[in-house]
Parts: sequence; structure tokens; C-alpha cells
Amino acid sequence: MEKRQELYAGKAKSVYTTDDPDLLVLNFRDDTSAFDGKKVESLARKGMVNNIFNAFIMERLQEAGIPTHFVKQLSNTESLVKKMQMIPVECVVRNIAAGGLVKRLGVEEGIALTPPTFELFLKNDEKGDPMINESLAETFGWATPEQLAKMKVLTFKVNHILKALFAEGDMLLVDYKLEFGVFKGEVVLGDEFSPDGCRLWDANTREKLDKDRFRQGLGGVIEAYEEVGRRLGITFPA
Ligand code: 5GP
Repeated sequence: MEKRQELYAGKAKSVYTTDDPDLLVLNFRDDTSAFDGKKVESLARKGMVNNIFNAFIMERLQEAGIPTHFVKQLSNTESLVKKMQMIPVECVVRNIAAGGLVKRLGVEEGIALTPPTFELFLKNDEKGDPMINESLAETFGWATPEQLAKMKVLTFKVNHILKALFAEGDMLLVDYKLEFGVFKGEVVLGDEFSPDGCRLWDANTREKLDKDRFRQGLGGVIEAYEEVGRRLGITFPA
């Protein structure tokens, strides 16, 4: 497999074509962004930590029967993935109220959400990733009803798997965002799963161990990400 030219540079990852038309290389960069790209900083080790963390999670999800685009880790900062047609809809599940939900509805941060909530957002930085619903997604052709149904089932299945995994490391999976695509007709999980796209709290102290440390200027961002990995048994290179 040979890495060829850059296809696309996102806010935190760059995507490269390969000599195989079905495969792409994801390069996890140190760039860290929040508020739809309005706050950007480079944090040393972030690309490596997220790449290794994502590989670990994608492998656990695949073992548990979730179809993903992940093929294998190539280096500290690169992974090989299947080239999918991305569905421009973000799926968010929340187990505990935080972030956007608290802002939007004025509910108290930290309350348990039973049953967990499921929300859809359009992937569109210019518009600030607006909240959408299944009707809008179907009408505007962002996803078919069948794809949306599959995405919802997979997103909740991921919740079941990862809540238990993080609980073993004394962490609460507060909420997370997933993105999906289509590969050879099948809806598969894409993008990445890392502390950049989820909220994780220490189960005892409720200390934030995720990107909210960056969003809220709390410091110790990568230290927290590495702590999350360490609690799952991941070792990061020095
Ligand atoms: P909220 O709606 O509270 O801002 O986000 C809910 C969850 O989805 C959080 O875990 C947040 O990190 C994740 N999330 C939502 N949108 C995005 C996004 O555009 N990028 C990233 N990295 N995470 C997102």
C-alpha cells in the first residue's frame, strides 16, 4: 500500500489517497479546534494519542460487531481506512446532561438522562453544525430513512459497548458524536472515536477528561487524554 496525494485536510486530520482506490490514509495532526474552528491550537502529542486511542476503540467496536471504516494502524499518527461516501449527519447520544443540551434547554449539568437521548446535527461548520431531524435529512437528501434507522441502531449499540468499557476504567461516558458513511452499500462507522468527540468524566470526582478541557481553557488537555488511554490499558510511546 502506497500513500499518494492529500485529498482533504480537515480541522484535525488529513486524508490521503493510496494506490488502492478503496483505501485512504488518515493522518491525525496535533491541531485542535473547537467552536466550529473558531478556537485552534496545536497541542503536542495529540495526533499520536488520538490515532492510537482511536485504533484501540475501533478494534473493540469491530470485535463487538459494529462495522467500521478502520482497517489498521500504520504508524503513530496514521491509520488506514476504507474509502466511504460520507453521510453529512452527526449522531449524538447523551447519557448525562452537558454541553449543548445544557445550553439549549437550561437543564442542570450532570443529571442522568434516562433513557439516553439521540440527536442529529448537520455537518456544516459555516452554519455551526445546526440541529436537524430525520424529516429534514430525508427531504434534503443528506441520508435515507433506511440509513438513518441503521445509524440510530449502531449509535446506541456503540453506547452499550463503550459505556461498559469506560466504566471498567472508572469513567462515565457522558455523550459522544459519531459519523457514518457508506462502503459498498453498507452503512459503516467513520471518522474517529477519541476524547475530541466525546465527554468522559472521572466516575468518582466527575473531573473532565475530554476536549472540554480545551474548550473551557482548563489546561492539561493531552495529559487527560493519555490518562483516559492509560485507564483502558493503552500505552503511548514516550
Ligand atoms: P454538544 O452538542 O454538547 O456540543 O456535543 C455533544 C457531544 O458530541 C460532545 O461529546 C462533543 O464532543 C461531540 N461533538 C458534537 N459535535 C462535534 C463536532 O463537530 N466535533 C467534535 N469533535 N465533537 C463533536
